[in-house]
Amino acid sequence: MAKLSLSTAFLVVAVLFVSSVEFGAAQDDEEDYYEVLTVDRDATEAQIRKAYRKLAKQYHPDRNKGDEAAEKKFRMVAEAYEVLSDNTKRQTYDTHGKEGLSDQQQGGGHGGMGDMFSNFFGGGGQRGHQQQKAQSLRLDLDVSLKDLYIGASVEIEISKQVVCATCRGSGAKSSKDIKKCGTCGGKGFRLVQHQLGPGFVQQSQQPCEKCNGKGKIVKTRCTVCAGRKVVHGCDEITIDVERGMRNGEEIVFPRGGDQMGDMDVIPGDIIYTIRTAPHKRFERIGDDLYMNLALTLTEALTGFKKKFKHLDGHEVLVKRSKVTQPDFVMAIPNEGMPQHNFPSVKGFLYVRFTVILPTSLSKDQKTGVVKILDNKAHSEL
Ligand SMILES: [Zn+2]
Ligand SMILES: [Zn+2]
Repeated sequence: MAKLSLSTAFLVVAVLFVSSVEFGAAQDDEEDYYEVLTVDRDATEAQIRKAYRKLAKQYHPDRNKGDEAAEKKFRMVAEAYEVLSDNTKRQTYDTHGKEGLSDQQQGGGHGGMGDMFSNFFGGGGQRGHQQQKAQSLRLDLDVSLKDLYIGASVEIEISKQVVCATCRGSGAKSSKDIKKCGTCGGKGFRLVQHQLGPGFVQQSQQPCEKCNGKGKIVKTRCTVCAGRKVVHGCDEITIDVERGMRNGEEIVFPRGGDQMGDMDVIPGDIIYTIRTAPHKRFERIGDDLYMNLALTLTEALTGFKKKFKHLDGHEVLVKRSKVTQPDFVMAIPNEGMPQHNFPSVKGFLYVRFTVILPTSLSKDQKTGVVKILDNKAHSEL
């Protein structure tokens, strides 16, 4: 008796369901896949797998013989896992909901229209590839030479357009508010006949104006995005500036740009270009560093020991005991920039010496210098 009433109730639910949802597959359900698997929206693959295993065990038909609710739950868990464990499907679900998934499955069905649309959007002749990518956003990332020497992690908040989380980009209040377009019968296009001349009729397909070629109409709009499918949102991204990266190098965040309400347009990339701020001591060329070092006349003549701090704070000692000519260049190995991808290998540091001469000499100093330094060269001139 109890079994009978349960199946009757199920039948009533099923009838209600079919009558209210005309477009989708019969197994379509209001339940959120993340809620089904009892995981957060930002759950990792491992967390999803773990939750699935636990629930699949719990609702497995072998353990719940004759329990229809458990069986239904088991099917939902499997369906949710199929989508959330697949990165592509999960992304589609996150941005376009179950609607998006069923659209994707039907993708092959209207190939002709796809081509038409790609021409429409300026894609031109990309057969079988229906998705268009929005334009990439290019930004400069100002970094110091120090950041490039030791590496840095830069957190940036980007304000951008994101798919409405409430309606998952359907624009509708609920999936029941999405109806098949009456004008085109859900095909998304209509046939138009042109009379070219007496007896000549040309027939062409045109996207349906009523539904913009989507084949679906939203009856009641989502109240959060007002049917726009996207809302203003924020995204926090962490840019890893790796040791040894060079000026002009690009760091790409694939599909990090504005999310689109249109299923056929995938977000563009965000591309950061490294711009190195000038440094007061060092100049960089490739993986080598260049700097100037000023010596007094005495230091140039008699030798010197000088210390300075490198970009990461370690001390570099420069010393000579011989005479140093102006513009003499000393090459110090392994004190240049780290090589990107091989940061333990570093370039050269080239130190170019300048000599600061005294601005004036007293009479005694002059006599002394002449006496000490043999100025034969002078007298011979
Ligand atoms: Zn239509
Ligand atoms: Zn919405």
